[in-house]
Amino acid sequence: MVSLAEKLRECGVAGAGGAGFPTYIKAQSSAEFVLANGAECEPLIHKDAEIMKHFPEGILAGMEAMITATGARLGKFGVKTKNAESLAALERHANRERIEFVPLGDFYPSGDEYELVYSATGRLIPPAGIPLNVGCVVNNVETLFNVDRASRGEPVTEKFLSVCGAVRKARSFWAPVGMTFRELVALAGGAQVADPVLFVNGIMMGSMSRDFDGVVTKTTGGLIVLPGDHYLVTRRDRSIPEMARIGKSACDQCSYCTEFCPRYLLGYEVQPHKVMRSLGFTTTGGDIWNQWAELCCSCGLCTLYACPEDLYPKEACDAGKLSRKTAGLKFIQQKPVQVHPMKEYRRVPLAQLRKRLQIEEYEREAPFEQPEIRPARVRIKWKQHAGVPAEPCVAEGARVSRGQTVGRAPRDKLGVSVHASMDGVVARLAEEFIEIVA
Ligand code: SF4
Ligand code: SF4
Repeated sequence: MVSLAEKLRECGVAGAGGAGFPTYIKAQSSAEFVLANGAECEPLIHKDAEIMKHFPEGILAGMEAMITATGARLGKFGVKTKNAESLAALERHANRERIEFVPLGDFYPSGDEYELVYSATGRLIPPAGIPLNVGCVVNNVETLFNVDRASRGEPVTEKFLSVCGAVRKARSFWAPVGMTFRELVALAGGAQVADPVLFVNGIMMGSMSRDFDGVVTKTTGGLIVLPGDHYLVTRRDRSIPEMARIGKSACDQCSYCTEFCPRYLLGYEVQPHKVMRSLGFTTTGGDIWNQWAELCCSCGLCTLYACPEDLYPKEACDAGKLSRKTAGLKFIQQKPVQVHPMKEYRRVPLAQLRKRLQIEEYEREAPFEQPEIRPARVRIKWKQHAGVPAEPCVAEGARVSRGQTVGRAPRDKLGVSVHASMDGVVARLAEEFIEIVA
């Protein structure tokens, strides 16, 4: 019999929540708990709330499949109480002997794996560890939906996402992998502003782009359109050296960035204000201060919420992590992880975050409405997830049908297969993608 892990690899299932870790690895492990991550805390994006509301049975079936595969004794489903309709839909279909619900408040970033594992089990993942170290396997809700499909032999060919912000009709829907951002924005009624800029996968942890020819991958969770003169665009438009230069001269070491850091409040040795000191050590010594960045999860709260000077501690942490990795340095936290006594009182409500980000006017529902989608062409990337890229297994000029495997990862490497997301002809096999024309 073909194992669930083998089906997940063949059907191309990778984490749909952002990181894109191949799910078959998780299905091969032994765990005590399987956690469903339905926390969704990126401001303005509501695709997880919508998928839970409209597809609860598939998500729960995927969770049951993972519970069986890992030998877990219980599934724990993290979902925000504000998403009452989604929660009710899930509760109606859940096997309560196998799955219990963990109600979460509307805070940022309650979907961080370390946070979710702590909320659901009271366990703290060891520094630089993974949920499995404390008996947990965590999957995003859409990933679980894809697990169920794959268990029936259906590959991942589309992505559930929200298109929101300055668009005429914010909505959530399934989009074929490989279609362009331009087409997605058009499906949301088009941009409402003359100079639109995209935040791909969110404002806090996503990337900013002006490339409307970018394409949907298995990890694209949403597109947020903002006007080109928005405060957030101006902040992101700075180059990394510019961010560092400003930080070096303007940081007053107030340490608010550290005091609000969710990893610091959980008890990990992350202290972005100390990382900011590294900016002054341009020739040598910077990596000593950069060690305080190593356990940072890049949530962006320090840069976009905590810092009263509008500086860039998150970007300093990203640079610090990279610098230490390049130098082959590893920081091992020595002291035991101990939750900060102020943790519960320093949580950041989403409403407060939206205010600080100046995006309150764009907060609205993005209801699930499936449009008819017939792209003229798709560009499907060989690498859409953690691990190695898939290698083509079809030739240029070949006729392919939706769901057909067009690329496979080498057997001995971490990776998953890639499939055609529509019927058509292979027009091009480029180094980074396959182009299929209808
Ligand atoms: S909050 Fe801003 S000013 Fe204060 S220490 Fe952090 S980076 Fe410096
Ligand atoms: S981005 Fe900032 S707030 Fe978030 S974990 Fe890293 S240091 Fe902490």
